[in-house]
Amino acid sequence: MSELALFGGPKAITCDLSNDNPLVKWPIFTEEDEAAVLDVLRKNTMSSTAITKEFEQEFAKWLGAEYALGFNNGTSSILAALYGAGVRKGDEVICQSNVYWAAGTQVMSLGATPVYANIEEGSLCLDPDDIEAKISDKTKAILVVHYLAHPADMDRIMAVAKKHNVKVVEDVSHAQGGLYKGRRLGTIGDVGAMSLMGGKSFAVGEAGMLVTNDRSIYEHAVALGHYDRFTDADITCEDLKPFTGLPLGGYKFRMHQMSSAVGLVQIKYHDEQCAEIRKAMNYFWDLLEGVPGIRAHRVDESEGSNMAGWYAPHGIYVPEELEGLSVTRFCEAVRAEGFAGCWPSANAALHTHRLFQTADVYGDGKPTRIANADRDVRELDKSLGKSQDIINRCYSIPWLKKFIPEEIEQCANAFKKAALNYKELLKDDPGDPENLGVWFFYQHTAPKK
Ligand SMILES: *Cc1c(COP(=O)(O)O)cnc(C)c1O
Repeated sequence: MSELALFGGPKAITCDLSNDNPLVKWPIFTEEDEAAVLDVLRKNTMSSTAITKEFEQEFAKWLGAEYALGFNNGTSSILAALYGAGVRKGDEVICQSNVYWAAGTQVMSLGATPVYANIEEGSLCLDPDDIEAKISDKTKAILVVHYLAHPADMDRIMAVAKKHNVKVVEDVSHAQGGLYKGRRLGTIGDVGAMSLMGGKSFAVGEAGMLVTNDRSIYEHAVALGHYDRFTDADITCEDLKPFTGLPLGGYKFRMHQMSSAVGLVQIKYHDEQCAEIRKAMNYFWDLLEGVPGIRAHRVDESEGSNMAGWYAPHGIYVPEELEGLSVTRFCEAVRAEGFAGCWPSANAALHTHRLFQTADVYGDGKPTRIANADRDVRELDKSLGKSQDIINRCYSIPWLKKFIPEEIEQCANAFKKAALNYKELLKDDPGDPENLGVWFFYQHTAPKK
């Protein structure tokens, strides 16, 4: 009989992988979070800023940044970070393509042009050489994502940025509190911005946070969408002073105080919880070291870098080592072993969506992507093969929150069994469908049409 559960063998995983099991349960909310939220309700302070300001202070202290500014979500924090970094109409911003849409669509909201650069194979983050290749005299900023919690190569990215005099905005939505060579992510570039949405590894509801050491960036971020804090008392920049009182962007970006209250509780435990996550995830990957077809997506921790809270962890797939077995078939076998969350692919490349090719969102009479550009940057998308191919070379793995060795061993074994018995899977391999990628991860489990 086959060893594979797909063909009737015993399942590798017998433990419970539902959110009831502390092995995977997230977020970790206790009575302390509940009391903090109830306090906001009872005092009717949902829409003020006192608790948010306290949360900002703790957050700035935590990351070692001069300023922190709370937002209603990560999307608006990134928009404000780009504005703060000086991105204006006609500018170009270098972005990653195979990421969630909110890591760059905002560039177009500012009348600027996203220019996509390729990723590196191991980290799945922006390739510093390709960033440099894509820089023009119009480039104002590089929007770096620490993708799936892997720190981008910040030393080389900062060197390219310095050489060409462009700003670096870090999107830390996957890696809050993470380290790159001993430095907190979000504080290495000119400004960091991040989601603290309920599904992230720092989860407080719908919320975002911006951090920077640059007073001008901070004030411009305030000016764009924080009307009640855009006051003469708070603003020192000469270009902003005449306009205090009304939000320059016409946006309202204030954080809901139920979220900031939860944030004040979560921040106390976050580093400790992430350390436990890293212990569990590193153990999982250690168990799979050397298994053909399978590679960890993780950083070398010996230089003081880490994977933060290991948001939405994925593995790298090397079909060449399994006679070309499709990742679709591989994941089917892992799911049969008892991990229902194993899906092929990661984020589809944004430049392949019509929003970034043909959509005229603002009535410019031409595609929004190039409405304010002096060249057709869509031509450059042809070089993005690596960013597109990644969907056939990734799969989701369990996001482990507690170091429970026996259960982690079961999880690792599910992947090992599928890889070691790959020959049996080749027989009925349907291959990968053409559009394997997803725009966001919930699409994996959404009902298929
Ligand atoms: C989640 C996410 C965002 C957007 O954050 P929201 O809080 O959902 O608005 C931005 N960038 C990346 C990389 C994300 O994963």
